[in-house]
Amino acid sequence: MSDLQERAKALDTADELAPLRALFTLDDTVYLDGNSLGALPRHVPARLQEVLTREWGELRIRSWDESGWWTAPERVGDRIAPIVGAAAGQIVVGDSTSVNVFKAVVAATRLAPEGRDEILVDADTFPTDGYIAESAARMTGHRIVPVAPADVPDALGPRTAVALLNHVDYRSGRLHDLPGLTAAVHAAGGIAVWDLCHSAGALPVGLDRHGVDLAVGCTYKYLNGGPGSPAYLYVAERHQADFDSPLPGWTSHADPFAMTPGYAPADGAVRGRVGTPDILSMLALEASLDVWDGVGVEAVRAKSLALTDFFLECVAAYVPEGRVTSVTPAAHTERGSQVALRCEDAEPVMSALIARGVVGDLRRPDVLRFGFTPLYVGFADAERAARALSDVLARQAA
Ligand SMILES: *Cc1c(COP(=O)(O)O)cnc(C)c1O
Repeated sequence: MSDLQERAKALDTADELAPLRALFTLDDTVYLDGNSLGALPRHVPARLQEVLTREWGELRIRSWDESGWWTAPERVGDRIAPIVGAAAGQIVVGDSTSVNVFKAVVAATRLAPEGRDEILVDADTFPTDGYIAESAARMTGHRIVPVAPADVPDALGPRTAVALLNHVDYRSGRLHDLPGLTAAVHAAGGIAVWDLCHSAGALPVGLDRHGVDLAVGCTYKYLNGGPGSPAYLYVAERHQADFDSPLPGWTSHADPFAMTPGYAPADGAVRGRVGTPDILSMLALEASLDVWDGVGVEAVRAKSLALTDFFLECVAAYVPEGRVTSVTPAAHTERGSQVALRCEDAEPVMSALIARGVVGDLRRPDVLRFGFTPLYVGFADAERAARALSDVLARQAA
């Protein structure tokens, strides 16, 4: 065994989160794509079987009430809340992240002071956020100002209505300064909307503590909710009374079953609901969140940083200098839970890695992404991935 293999073994032995891996359905693949689709918790299929056979099959419509289907969006929101540092009653689950970006951006323009016409958007954003913000801007008579998150403080001013920012950049894995940028947006009198897709479940977010106004995120990445599991919307309690949804569907009505022609919003985060919730996906997500019982986000963050540090160290030891360059910041304060390596021929390199049982992914043209989900990825995985990468690159060079 090499030194790094010995170290990996010792780190795995000392890792208090290591036993959590047994809660997931995994094989000997090194799975480093949990930042795209989290692994399946073992107990979810049995729970879904019960939902299908008992709740749908036998109780049928009674389940909206008797099985708690109707209130699932708020209930599951309250399960996500501690993971992102929110008190109960501020998160509602449903729809996709894209749809929640729309709700949040339009609602934010309605919360912002009158007369402001700019929506600042992270210039490197995941495309859907940018597309939707652009449409929301056109609909509401605002203009989009694309800006790198680090330059947001300079771009803020008396015209700023809203800033839509990503907590962690999906491509580079860069962690942005949520507390500092939120404070800067507030100092300029604007509303801060955060996209947590790549941070929720990987690191502490502290929504309440840092005074975030609105936030959205998906649940199929580090929260392991399953393919297409519903996203969530956070509406800070202080904004709930004024939260004016651009999609005021009937399930967000104060008395939905009164079926009245006039709209009156429900109190609380329920205002963020739209139509009939996607129960099968929602309940798969609810069950999958059981893996978080007794797990603190701080411990997850500590392991995530140790894993990405160790992976970078293994890459530096195994891969010839200059063949790959990390685009993920070395500073812990600027790093999410993935490592992105710029690499020539990234596409064939990733295919060869996957063929060897190391699954990461690719952001064209030249970025290899390796996501580290601390609940089920270990240090031996990190060492094996770096070794496989160096083998693949050596073969490519030959
Ligand atoms: C994954 C991701 C999305 C996905 O949006 P969907 O509507 O679920 O397809 C959106 N924004 C960011 C920043 C993401 O990382």
